Amino acid sequence: MSGQSILIVAAHPDDEVLGCGATAARHVADGDTVHVLIMAEGATSRDADDIDGVEALRQSAVAAAVALGTQPPRFAGLADNRMDSHDMLDIVKEVESAAADVTPTIVYTHHGGDLNVDHRLTHQAVLTACRPQPEEIVRAIYTFETPSSTEWSATDMEEAFLPQRFIDVSDHMAAKIAALECYGSEMRDFPHARSIKAVEALATLRGSQSGLVAAEAFRVIREVI
Ligand SMILES: [Zn+2]
Repeated sequence: MSGQSILIVAAHPDDEVLGCGATAARHVADGDTVHVLIMAEGATSRDADDIDGVEALRQSAVAAAVALGTQPPRFAGLADNRMDSHDMLDIVKEVESAAADVTPTIVYTHHGGDLNVDHRLTHQAVLTACRPQPEEIVRAIYTFETPSSTEWSATDMEEAFLPQRFIDVSDHMAAKIAALECYGSEMRDFPHARSIKAVEALATLRGSQSGLVAAEAFRVIREVI
């Protein structure tokens, strides 16, 4: 089914690319319209008044959206790595207002067991904003893994990321890498989990688990057919 509206809800600039950038590019190639909502600033936790850093990250996010073919990102502007300083209701309202605007049928967001508090709160806010009421138009919610947060969490079964849905992104890894290169300041050298080589290795691993050259993997939170 093409022509769908897709919404990616990411905590920080670059999570949208790390988590599901190649899948986003595939949706675009399939004729879907992909929207991105970025919840937190992504820079201020490192330097209290790093306004330049916040603006630079926004520019990176805009450039990454062009690389993937998604719509220009929306920024909720919440406090970086301190989303727990906001009322949950206000976080949920940001997701609700984006969802009301773009009326998505599919929503992608963070794994609920990530180490990062903003990732966890974003996950919770999406589930609350898209709860399955009679008029709800969201038909599917999928969660992605974010290198250097998902695998750094506790490893008990409840927290672990056990993927059930594999998207063939063999033709779209180049777009993902190009988008990551827009985030030069956020990327690290191999063997850091946030290096281009490690991102490619993860896609190869997820591909090998699903008979594909390269895949992005997801957990299924809900599918309504
Ligand atoms: Zn993040």
